[in-house]
Amino acid sequence: MRYLLALALALTLLLGWAPPADPLDAAALARWAGLGPEVQFVFRVDADDDAVNGYFQPGGYVCSPFECGPVQPKVAVIAGRNVPEAIVLYVLFHEVAHYLQWREWGEAMFAMDPVALEWDADVRAVEMMCARHDDGLGAISAARDWLYTHYQYEGDVLHGTMAERVANALARATACRQRAEAP
Ligand SMILES: [Zn+2]
Repeated sequence: MRYLLALALALTLLLGWAPPADPLDAAALARWAGLGPEVQFVFRVDADDDAVNGYFQPGGYVCSPFECGPVQPKVAVIAGRNVPEAIVLYVLFHEVAHYLQWREWGEAMFAMDPVALEWDADVRAVEMMCARHDDGLGAISAARDWLYTHYQYEGDVLHGTMAERVANALARATACRQRAEAP
């Protein structure tokens, strides 16, 4: 009987296993990358999904049709469990980079060229990965391949093409290049 109970418990543990909500400790990584304590951070892993989505929502005093009030800035990343960790990290740091842009440039960033903002966020994200001794340039290349393989996504007017984004990161992520060229 005791063995049966142990077996049942083991089965329950196995069947009840679910990926931890934050296997990367994404919240700690986001704070390390410069995400301020005032920013709400949401990280979720979706089971059996190939998609990875992230966004930065600026804060401020916002009026809806019903009320006005302060809105907390927010960074969110929703990652499919199938997505390689390096790609998730790149997306996470890319969204933190949009927050850093907002801190530096304020509302003026919304008048800037959206493609230039995306490419700047890419460079920052890739360099953050290199600062962690991760292969940032490999990660953005992997993201390009992943998005094409799973979604035939090659780019859009607000982001430029993935090929251009990889080329931009290769040319401008000097922190990674110095590391790569070091003897
Ligand atoms: Zn972006």
